Amino acid sequence: MFRETVVHAGGTTEGTASEAHLLMTLRRAVRRGYGIEATREGGALVTWTRAEYSGQTAERAVLFAPQKPVAALTEALAQDLHLINDMGPAKYEENAQGRRVIRVGFLEFSPMATAHLRARQMVATDQHGTVRLTMTARLSLLAAKHLTTTTEPGIGAVASKASCTCGLFTATAGDRDAARHLARLHRQDMAAEFVTNLAPAVTAAITA
Ligand SMILES: [Zn+2]
Repeated sequence: MFRETVVHAGGTTEGTASEAHLLMTLRRAVRRGYGIEATREGGALVTWTRAEYSGQTAERAVLFAPQKPVAALTEALAQDLHLINDMGPAKYEENAQGRRVIRVGFLEFSPMATAHLRARQMVATDQHGTVRLTMTARLSLLAAKHLTTTTEPGIGAVASKASCTCGLFTATAGDRDAARHLARLHRQDMAAEFVTNLAPAVTAAITA
């Protein structure tokens, strides 16, 4: 579950949202060309500009924050999540000691690692009993992949630089604000691509 904060003309409204609702909101946002950003804790921020009757524009936003935020996506945890996602199907099994473990191919997660992934709501099972990554896990991975940084223009330098940990994005801009804006657009592009490219099986499992 997610805590949903909607920023509208009258202020903000708080509520709770299911994983399915989050996914539907993100897909609709992509269709409408709204900006989406993944958060490192495993949530998402949707922003758009609305034209008012007065001719002014108003900023709108919806923030989805997971009820169990990802506190620290370590390299090891990210690898585990990629294994479950890429080497599947992953299943729950009982090990020799009768403890629940996630098995992926020949690989067996420890009972502790399995319990951690479940308790932090980073995995869920679909209708076939396959262990899948939740939107929280996916969004956290996405945010970690695209950590952008910007530089202050140095003495003698004319431009601010923006770059991303993914290695696919660098840009220069007149000042740091402009560089930050370009970095944000990159993160939004990557998030839109992520939503568009979610496998139909994943979408079906989440919305089932
Ligand atoms: Zn990137």
